[in-house]
Amino acid sequence: MAIADDVKSYKEIFWLNPSRHGTDSDRTGAALTRADFVDACDRFKQMTPALRQLFPDLDAIGGVRSALIPVPRLQDALFDDPDAVGQLFVKADHDLPVAGSIKARGGIFEVFSHAWDWAVQNGYMTREDPVERLLSPEMKKVFADRVIAVGSTGNLGLSVGIVGRALGFQVEVHMSRDAKAWKKALLRERGATVFEYDDDYTFAVRQAASRAEAQEQTYFVDDEGSRLLFLGYSVAALELKEQLCDLGIEIGATRPLFLYLPCGIGGAPGGIAFGAHQVFGGHAHPFFAEPVASPCMLVEMIKETGGPVSVYDYGLDNVTEADGLAVGTASVLASGLMRPILSGIFTVRDERLMEGLFLLKETEGLRVEPSAAAGVFGPVHLYGSAAGRAYCICNDLAGPMADAVHVIWTTGGRFLPDQDYEAFFREGAIARRKRTGRQKN
Ligand SMILES: *Cc1c(COP(=O)(O)O)cnc(C)c1O
Repeated sequence: MAIADDVKSYKEIFWLNPSRHGTDSDRTGAALTRADFVDACDRFKQMTPALRQLFPDLDAIGGVRSALIPVPRLQDALFDDPDAVGQLFVKADHDLPVAGSIKARGGIFEVFSHAWDWAVQNGYMTREDPVERLLSPEMKKVFADRVIAVGSTGNLGLSVGIVGRALGFQVEVHMSRDAKAWKKALLRERGATVFEYDDDYTFAVRQAASRAEAQEQTYFVDDEGSRLLFLGYSVAALELKEQLCDLGIEIGATRPLFLYLPCGIGGAPGGIAFGAHQVFGGHAHPFFAEPVASPCMLVEMIKETGGPVSVYDYGLDNVTEADGLAVGTASVLASGLMRPILSGIFTVRDERLMEGLFLLKETEGLRVEPSAAAGVFGPVHLYGSAAGRAYCICNDLAGPMADAVHVIWTTGGRFLPDQDYEAFFREGAIARRKRTGRQKN
């Protein structure tokens, strides 16, 4: 298969999902349904007053939410004819408080849901009590005997660790070799216990899982299969709809919505794509972006039969500066839910990530981490490649593409130290010069 050869040779790929059904609603037997989504939106809303009390940064912006920013100067830089492509936006999760990344959505939702459910199940409060009771000194004392364990390449650990500690839990974060030193330091500062392994993400998750199995008082946040994490991310789609509404933008047949979502294990982009499907139906067209060395969702989607596959099965090394995306095997929950919904996946070399990081800063003053820049060139693929144009024609979008709405989801960076950022930025400037110089020749 030609695509398998391209994957193996670290080539950039733009793949369209042949299993997407467009406007199909819930199939029977789907792991999560519209009712789960609606319930998650309600729950997140109920939690918000307590979250605002716990984290003053969240209070200032009204909850776990990020800005939707028009990016006309980026649009000019990416396209020769910027007027022909509708409107580009950045969904600025790179600036989310508390965790500094998109993991704030899933991590806060899961840890808070767990605390709440556990307190109700164990008779400390009822569902009717104000959620703020979870923040009382009594509850903090109770939670101090309980443990939350998580495996992470960095950002999920940060999110779960910070929220878990704020509620009073003990937190164990099991970190893969991709995790940056500053993330470990920040967690230790908050009182989390950090375990470090010279191994990959999947290994770190196994360690967290086995600790949780061995200790009865431990709750395991399972990035590979957690419904709560997934649903926590999905709520972002409702937030996006409200923001578009406020701008007078209505998504529909003549105005399609394209989402460019950086993908690691698939929970965050999958949750958002799932939520977008609930909110916008087939008018939402989600594309995932993965590093060429770690295209775990792509290899899962193109496999013909059998159990889960990993990027190692393709001889790839899973080494990338996009630490948030350095995952070898996709979440089965996410891949199963994405099969009928996902529009496609494109892969990016690290050089392109850095170029995207550089462009976001140069054109719009946005400071993101490498993972968060993976989606920047998505719209260029869509308009500029044969496969992209084929997608638009097959979906009757040839006309509406001039009015399309493109949302590049920037997923992290707020806590990235200046020194790290500046090195990435310099690499990005060089990559940009190299490519634009070449084009002029
Ligand atoms: C985790 C992460 C992602 C991807 O989320 P997954 O749930 O792993 O697919 C993207 N960007 C950043 C910055 C992340 O930390």
